[in-house]
Amino acid sequence: MKFAQIYRRRRKPIISFELFPPSTDKGMEKLQSRLPKLARLEPDFISVTYGAMGTTRQKTLEIVSMIQRDCGVETAHHLTCVGATREELSLQLEQIRRQGIENIVALRGDPPQGQAHFEPPQGGFSNAWELVAHVHSAGGFGVAVAGYPEKHVEASDFDTDLRHLKHKADCGADVIITQLFYHNAAYFRFVDRCRGIGIEQPIVPGLLPILSLRQIQRIAGLCGCILPVDLMEELKSVEGDEDKVFEIGIEYTVEQAKELLDRGVPGIHFYVLNRYFHIAEVMQELRPKLDQLQTSAP
Ligand code: FAD
Repeated sequence: MKFAQIYRRRRKPIISFELFPPSTDKGMEKLQSRLPKLARLEPDFISVTYGAMGTTRQKTLEIVSMIQRDCGVETAHHLTCVGATREELSLQLEQIRRQGIENIVALRGDPPQGQAHFEPPQGGFSNAWELVAHVHSAGGFGVAVAGYPEKHVEASDFDTDLRHLKHKADCGADVIITQLFYHNAAYFRFVDRCRGIGIEQPIVPGLLPILSLRQIQRIAGLCGCILPVDLMEELKSVEGDEDKVFEIGIEYTVEQAKELLDRGVPGIHFYVLNRYFHIAEVMQELRPKLDQLQTSAP
């Protein structure tokens, strides 16, 4: 089922998980063994990221096909503009289509390791909006794009970034999935500003359950998201005690998700990072609220 239908037909907020293709065979085996367990958490769809370059790219298609075929869960294949010509992207889309995958998360992509800036490939695209238009004109796919509640790191200012998002949305996006954030206020402000400039697509918040202090500091640094001071102090005070960090991280994500659900978000996209226990715990805590929202839906 394509994104537009998934979000239009919803009787409750749409829960999605994001996985990445492991770079080793062992990682791949581990992920394969976790897929049925992740599927039993009943996400509405699972998306799989697309690597900057190299061998993991083919694995994205392998994993989404596996999820769709063997686990019976709807999927989305991420695709980027990095290192590919327009013709290569068309071929990739045909391969994806042949596997029965109906949704694409269309991104510009991050520069490959060792490159400071994104280099548009010769014969390819410079920004995600061009890929969105390309996928849209290929036909037959639902399209999601990325949005940044705290501004994309390269954008000079928020308004310019929003104008670019509007253009990307107008080129054929069905839904916007946000970069991870830890301040819900940033998300609500972002949604208001998007609506203010005429962006009408569902804007789905992206949440990353905290695994460790180091991990969250590194990821937040990369994507420019602001970490709550209180949360950081709490995590620092229990540094080294994995169980406590786990507990605090889960509690924070659950509270964040509950507030978002209470305020009527169209869904939540969880950056699962191929783990199981964190998301299983979060889903268990959210299940009563999701069930309640489903039964009270008109
Ligand atoms: P764009 O929308 O092209 O924006 C990139 C920058 O260019 C922004 O600063 C924007 O303001 C600016 N810009 C846009 N249009 C124009 C224009 N016409 N003129 C001038 N400037 C412009 N990365 C991966 O490599 N693989 C993945 O699978 C992946 N999945 C992701 C999933 C989600 C939900 C999110 C939020 C991010 C994901 N990323 C992934 C990261 C993403 O590729 C990076 O954040 C990247 O730096 C920007 O991608 P974009 O699609 O937002 O680019």
